[in-house]
Amino acid sequence: MIPHLVPPGETIGILGGGQLGRMLAVAAARLGYRCHVFAPEADSIAADVCAAHTRAPWHDHDAMARFAADCAVVTYEFENVPVTALAALGAVPLYPSARALEVAQDRLNEKQFVAGLGGRTAPFHVVDTAEDLDAALTEIGSPGILKTRREGYDGKGQWRIMADHDAEGIRLSGEAMIFEGFVHFAAEFSVILCRGQDGTTVFWDSAENAHENGILARSTVPASPLIAAQVTEARELAGKVADALDYVGVAAFEFFATADGPVFNEMAPRVHNSGHWTIEGALTSQFENHIRAICGLPLGDTRLAARQVEMRNVVGDAAEDWAAILADPANHLHLYGKAAARPGRKMGHVTRLTL
Ligand code: AMP
Repeated sequence: MIPHLVPPGETIGILGGGQLGRMLAVAAARLGYRCHVFAPEADSIAADVCAAHTRAPWHDHDAMARFAADCAVVTYEFENVPVTALAALGAVPLYPSARALEVAQDRLNEKQFVAGLGGRTAPFHVVDTAEDLDAALTEIGSPGILKTRREGYDGKGQWRIMADHDAEGIRLSGEAMIFEGFVHFAAEFSVILCRGQDGTTVFWDSAENAHENGILARSTVPASPLIAAQVTEARELAGKVADALDYVGVAAFEFFATADGPVFNEMAPRVHNSGHWTIEGALTSQFENHIRAICGLPLGDTRLAARQVEMRNVVGDAAEDWAAILADPANHLHLYGKAAARPGRKMGHVTRLTL
């Protein structure tokens, strides 16, 4: 790939208007860039910190083309941007590529792609009909998890099937699904990497992740020795996936640590919640390195800035405790500026360093 240098002062386009876009824009601003968000929603918390906001449906070709005309490079913070909408970007470079988005936004494509490169995944079976679900249960057995192939996040679009008879009550909506065998894991962790336009790849330390109700609750670095022993193998696979996609930018790979080694769960072709700790906890954050990668700049040092780092998500009305959180000088509070604190909604995060 011929490096495409976007010097500071230029405009970076961000597809998607949530907290990931907001934190990308803050990192970009520090390097002297201007950001332009494309997001269909009126109240975009990313647009709140950007120079411009195009508010239009994803498939508004003219709006997307006008947005592209203002940008030297475009990236995305939302993995469900319809791939078909990207043609309107024309010749403006898109990093990571549309191909990466296509692979990662469908759980079946993603698992097949990773398995094709030698990665271990949970056993899986495509489920489009009730017969497919019967076949999946015969082949894989319960317990397992039925997941929508697309657009699931934070445990949404998932049904646990603990025994075969649980499946009887499930009415399939016709949406494309996948049934996965339940993985018995000791812990969960992520591998976050950043790959530059020249193929240089850097990794952050792997965080141990704890989920509550399907939502990431906490990421801790360093991870337990059990995870540390599996990181090399997991990184090797993540690096292979990134190379195969000629990936540019930050990508996150979620793994289960099992007795048989790391089992790949899913990838996100973007900055990731389990990497938020890198803002204070690493010498260069995932957000800054993503901006550097897509702009063709050298990547920054990803080493730890503390002995121990813990990131906790601030979910729902826990955001009202901001005064108490700030009263502890060890806490670094990030609030995303969301107006309504609905239950289960990520409102911010808190990072604590042990120096
Ligand atoms: P996902 O949306 O695939 O990341 O799933 C959310 C969470 O559900 C994961 O972080 C795991 O805690 C759990 N989970 C998902 N898939 C499986 C599986 N096949 N076996 C066991 N637990 C799973």
